[in-house]
Amino acid sequence: MAEYAKDAVLVLLEATPAGELTKSAAGLIGAASQVGTPIAVLVGAEKLAHDAAALGAGTVLVAPAGEGLTVPAVDALAAAVELVDPDAVLTAHSIEGREAAGRLAARRRSGLCVDAVGVSRDDEGVIAHHSVYGGSYDVDASVTWGAPIITVRQGSIEARADAVADPVIETLEVAPSGRKAATVGAVAEAAVSSSRPELRGAAKVVSGGRGLGSEEKFALVEQLADALGAAVGASRAAVDAGYVPASFQVGQTGVSVSPQLYIALGISGAIQHKAGMQTAKTIVAINKDGDAPIFDIADFGVVGDLFTVVPQLVAALEAKRK
Ligand code: FAD
Repeated sequence: MAEYAKDAVLVLLEATPAGELTKSAAGLIGAASQVGTPIAVLVGAEKLAHDAAALGAGTVLVAPAGEGLTVPAVDALAAAVELVDPDAVLTAHSIEGREAAGRLAARRRSGLCVDAVGVSRDDEGVIAHHSVYGGSYDVDASVTWGAPIITVRQGSIEARADAVADPVIETLEVAPSGRKAATVGAVAEAAVSSSRPELRGAAKVVSGGRGLGSEEKFALVEQLADALGAAVGASRAAVDAGYVPASFQVGQTGVSVSPQLYIALGISGAIQHKAGMQTAKTIVAINKDGDAPIFDIADFGVVGDLFTVVPQLVAALEAKRK
């Protein structure tokens, strides 16, 4: 029987519909490497094992694809936990990652720590760090029994593990649990209307608020985003006003982002908006109201009319590129 590191940390990796590792993989393996030895679990995606190793997984357990959604991943994780006896299990805080983590925790009666923005360890085990109530409080969570199962907010972990040239790739034997699972009846490919990065997990985000004033003027947000190679986000007020679709909404009832750079244009900084972006590494705010709460959390702020400031910023970025 293979030996596994005493400080093993299992990491569930997901694949995109195009068959690549999702962007969260690097951060998950990076997080695992901060607290132990990462062991990746791939479900039905053996060809991605070397990609996982390139991100720092020295051991990759490959489970069969199985039937239905998520249940094969939970079955695989449950088998991997039995095999490896890890100190923690990490999944992305994605739709599949959250479901897999919740189901695994229920099955194993383990503690679940959701939406962590960091991990560390002390003498008693792995600790999850959370940013809650709109980033107003930092909370550390640990479990009192067994290995914690932790979902990690996409984009929140900067640490990266060193690439592994010769990974150990093993087939994980999984006894299907036969639990009920949703199945995919049909797949209709959504037309991709944008070449911009996806908001969730983007390294740079430019968001616009009510201050943009109209759908037409919201184009300024897109111009700055394109000049920076950033994803586009919005406040709920901008969504409610119909400037952009609801999928752009950042915040408590929208997408949570943790990019390297977040630029807020004409956004006041309501607590519900901050809840979704406060863990960004660098926050830049442009607002004509110097008392807007967004400036309380901004690393850099410009008090001014965005219609004056942003075109100059775009022109400067484009000039730099030439
Ligand atoms: P406003 O608060 O109206 O701010 C507009 C800002 O633009 C102002 O600060 C103004 O000074 C500035 N401005 C105007 N013109 C210019 C200009 N020319 N140049 C520069 N600055 C200018 N909100 C979210 O964003 N995400 C959520 O997920 C979310 N969930 C919510 C959930 C609940 C249950 C509730 C009750 C609310 C939620 N909200 C959410 C709404 C939130 O409370 C705020 O109403 C919203 O974030 C405000 O959006 P805003 O900053 O674009 O608009």
